[in-house]
Amino acid sequence: EGDHDKQFEALSGKRVAVVGAGVSGLAAAYKLKSRGLNVTVFEADGRAGGKLRSVMHNGLIWDEGANTMTEAEPEVGSLLDDLGLREKQQFPISQKKRYIVRNGLPVMIPTNPIALVTSSVLSTQSKFQILLEPFLWKKNDSSSKVTDASAVESVSGFFKRHFGQEVVDYLIDPFVGGTSAADPDSLSMKHTFPDLWNVEKSFGSIIVGAIRTKFAAKGGKSGESRGSPVTKKGSRGSFSFQGGMQILPDMLCKNLSHDELSLDSKVLSLSYNSGSRQENWSLSCVSHNETQRRNLHYDAVIMTAPLCNVKEMKVVKGGQPFQLNFLPEIKYMPLSVIITTFTKEKVKRPLEGFGVLIPSKEQKHGFRTLDRCPSDLHLYTTFIGGSRNQELAKASTNELKQVVTSDLQRLLGVEGEPVLVNHFYWSKAFPLYDSSYDSVMEAIDKMEKDLPGFFYAGNHRGGLSVGKSIASGCKAANLVISYLESCSNDKKPED
Ligand code: FAD
Repeated sequence: EGDHDKQFEALSGKRVAVVGAGVSGLAAAYKLKSRGLNVTVFEADGRAGGKLRSVMHNGLIWDEGANTMTEAEPEVGSLLDDLGLREKQQFPISQKKRYIVRNGLPVMIPTNPIALVTSSVLSTQSKFQILLEPFLWKKNDSSSKVTDASAVESVSGFFKRHFGQEVVDYLIDPFVGGTSAADPDSLSMKHTFPDLWNVEKSFGSIIVGAIRTKFAAKGGKSGESRGSPVTKKGSRGSFSFQGGMQILPDMLCKNLSHDELSLDSKVLSLSYNSGSRQENWSLSCVSHNETQRRNLHYDAVIMTAPLCNVKEMKVVKGGQPFQLNFLPEIKYMPLSVIITTFTKEKVKRPLEGFGVLIPSKEQKHGFRTLDRCPSDLHLYTTFIGGSRNQELAKASTNELKQVVTSDLQRLLGVEGEPVLVNHFYWSKAFPLYDSSYDSVMEAIDKMEKDLPGFFYAGNHRGGLSVGKSIASGCKAANLVISYLESCSNDKKPED
């Protein structure tokens, strides 16, 4: 108790600036505020949420950014509990029914070994290759070379060694397309699937590793908090909220006062001065219709703006410009999100399920469905673009409407024109975790090392998903807390 009070005292009155009101920045601010710190969140846009963006229109709700999230990260579960969001959680009707297109038709993705054996997604040869993976998987022969080529092995290279090319084409390609808009040849395995990367290091075989870690997790948990939905890692799969994903940032914003959330405030520059004993950081920002900069002072900064935006900021350290030219150029994947609705009688083969992914071998765009419509309509969310389709992502609404309608005709038997068409274009939907991503991580580490009290969080570090972004924001908040505690300890003797 006493320790806790002392800690609280050391932190109270400290001021932290959070740049970016996406889910990572808002989660960081929530955590800091709950520990008694003064926070201000600066957001360039006129709204909070970043890549979470829900639209309500004529009784329909859709998401133009992330559509669902999971709670594999413990930080997500705690946040949902603290915000009272459990009762608003919305799970898809048929979580396990996910489809892949094979020979032009949607086929259900097998979710267990028996379903795999009977499924028509893969050939008999590939099925054997999966079941026999513990004996047949191949070592990464490039890892023995002098250059550390294993560090940059692609996602396709990795899965090909374990399961063969067909698994890459029909399971991995659509999966990574659907979750990161990238293709498995350009993604780095180490950065995209760090857990599996480590499974191979410990067990060799992915199947053996998966079974052993599953047993280990079950054994470890059974004694304590069995049955609690929070402790079961991501047990119920993907979910959204009544009202869409936007509810999450909205609830996080509700917890912030007017002064603590500064919308329409683009951060232009940051400056660090080590001389003063506190509020070493000053930050300047502008709104879109003002030319005058506001200058504000803080003890620490959590940066969650995409690195391409950070590169544009002016940073000063001890009166000298701190050049950010060591930050590499990041490749971003463009994506168009098309919403279409059809009256139910116009859809001949509606799919009850979580969504359909189209492998690039079959066609180049993926789409999924989430049913949260009035009873007479089907609403489809279609994602078009990504690394193999960068040009099409930029096409006009009319062109994209035609592409989507003809796809839906072929796959679901829809007839006629959609009742509604809505188009949202993300020019930089996802950063690409490619083979050069090690250099990006090194640059982030360097920024943090050279700038005391500066911490970077968000989807450019440690994972692209909503859950990973939240976890990243919470981690940065914890680092800020330790940093500020250590500062106040250092200063004690002088007092
Ligand atoms: P962002 O949401 O990008 O927030 C960064 C914020 O910083 C922005 O609001 C930006 O305006 C602000 N900013 C930038 N520059 C400045 C500046 N100079 N000053 C002040 N503010 C600034 N993930 C899933 O888990 N499931 C999904 O189904 C899913 N689907 C997706 C679909 C799409 C179309 C997209 C684009 C993403 C999807 N994702 C999904 C990924 C996920 O949504 C993001 O990775 C996550 O929301 C990123 O959060 P963030 O806080 O790190 O960044």
